[in-house]
Amino acid sequence: MPRQITEMEIESAKMELPDVKTVRLKWPEGFDPDFKTGQFITVFWPDTPNYKRAYSLSSCALDRGFFEITIKRDGKMGTRMVDWAKAGDRLGVIPPVGKFLPVLEPDAHLLCIAGGSGVTPFRGFVREATRRKLSTRITILYSVRTTNDIIFNDEFRELAQQNPNFSFQVTCTRLSEQDPWTGRRGRIDAAWVKENIVDLPKTTFYACGPNALVDGTEHLVVSEMGLPKAQMKTEKWG
Ligand SMILES: Cc1cc2nc3c(=O)[nH]c(=O)nc-3n(C[C@H](O)[C@H](O)[C@H](O)COP(=O)(O)OP(=O)(O)OC[C@H]3O[C@@H](n4cnc5c(N)ncnc54)[C@H](O)[C@@H]3O)c2cc1C
Repeated sequence: MPRQITEMEIESAKMELPDVKTVRLKWPEGFDPDFKTGQFITVFWPDTPNYKRAYSLSSCALDRGFFEITIKRDGKMGTRMVDWAKAGDRLGVIPPVGKFLPVLEPDAHLLCIAGGSGVTPFRGFVREATRRKLSTRITILYSVRTTNDIIFNDEFRELAQQNPNFSFQVTCTRLSEQDPWTGRRGRIDAAWVKENIVDLPKTTFYACGPNALVDGTEHLVVSEMGLPKAQMKTEKWG
């Protein structure tokens, strides 16, 4: 059965970075959906109802009354959302679906490998685990070009303070040698991933984002490291 389309008002729009915006969509009266952290919604502008695009929820299932999505300025919809979406605008929304779900079990370890905007659903994962005070271990290994490209930097660092089972680690791939960053540099590689595996049978690997990034991560984890594909969950954005 097709999911019902609901029109929602943009309650707020926040620039996270010069090319990344979080849009909060207010649920209308009586709308109280059953959905899961990690799913995505599909949105469209009422003036172009045939141009629909999917966005992972960057909020979590415990957030009631609104959906948040975080969009990078890329392509037609990405540009319109980042440059033009503002509080008071209305968007058509197809409610959440998807199977990119966090395994929030007590002794599980979620090793989330992200690049650029692919980090968006992991904010929802960590938010839910932190609010519920779960013992589930979550590690984000995040690759960005420079320190100016880290989405949710303050928020992830704050969540790491609140949640002893969450670790947020960043590597920068295109910093100049003179940059004062003392953290990790270079691409995500097998050695770094291995360093962060505590108990392999209990680890689930997650990768999300543009196809090239997800394919690259899958190649690293499954082909290069020989880790089981059954322990990997991916979400390809196209
Ligand atoms: C399940 C799902 C979840 C998604 N979640 C998000 C999200 O949370 N945030 C988000 O910004 N986008 C997300 N996307 C991508 C989004 O749906 C759009 O494709 C994106 O905003 C580009 O808009 P467009 O399709 O109008 O661009 P078009 O003009 O059709 O161009 C699309 C081009 O952009 C590339 N592309 C798409 N998204 C990105 C990106 N973020 N970074 C770099 N290249 C990209 C595609 O490979 C393609 O080459 C998601 C896609 C899917 C399928």
